[in-house]
Amino acid sequence: MKILVSNDDGVFSPGLHALADAVAGFATEVVVVAPEADRSGASNSLTLDRPLYVRPAARPNTHFVNGTPTDCVHVAVTGFLPWKPDLVVSGINKGQNLAEDTLYSGTVAAAMEGYLLGIPAIAFSLSAHHFGQLDTATHVVQRVIAGVLQQPPSPHYLLNVNIPSVPLGELQGYEVTRLGRRHEAQPVIRTHSPRGEPMYWVGPPGEVRDATPGTDFHAIAQRRVSITPLRVDLGHAEAISSLEQWLQRLP
Ligand code: MN
Repeated sequence: MKILVSNDDGVFSPGLHALADAVAGFATEVVVVAPEADRSGASNSLTLDRPLYVRPAARPNTHFVNGTPTDCVHVAVTGFLPWKPDLVVSGINKGQNLAEDTLYSGTVAAAMEGYLLGIPAIAFSLSAHHFGQLDTATHVVQRVIAGVLQQPPSPHYLLNVNIPSVPLGELQGYEVTRLGRRHEAQPVIRTHSPRGEPMYWVGPPGEVRDATPGTDFHAIAQRRVSITPLRVDLGHAEAISSLEQWLQRLP
């Protein structure tokens, strides 16, 4: 069992190191390839305007790339590693990745890149902006990895795992979920540079719109681990027939 580990918080993240340590006991090979800096929100971007390097970090079997999470997994799988991983894991992200967050998340994107390259993949996120409950997250990672190695949920899978930031004893179990929905994002925050030029900070994500039972939002609110199966298909099959009718009426 060979496991590739990546993230979007960057090579210095305690969550990345915890994930690598958590999966080590399951694998003959564990290699970490992570962005050299925090690339949260990078989504599925690839770097096309400059070359990428893969350099060794101080930690054993750990490397950093001057690129995005997607770059890391892409370069590792298609050129850097001498073997094809059996599993790609990403995280442990500082902050949850629920509902539409999955579209912007570099954590999910790193896993998704593995999935697109034919490798089962799992993204792990901790639902707090700190690593105070990293022990809980590590425990969850090990249970999930043990589970998928014992019996894969399907031949090819992409899972988005979100972990409540609570002490292990307060965890209320595990739940398979669907993505919830958010309202549209908050506006950008307008400010000025020291030289008077207008600047804009991207604002916070939108408030929760669908957090009904069965959603990832609901599971996390109930202090349960949320496991959402993801797919990669932006196509909207249900809209095809009405669009065909629209096309017939085109002036
Ligand atoms: Mn992140």
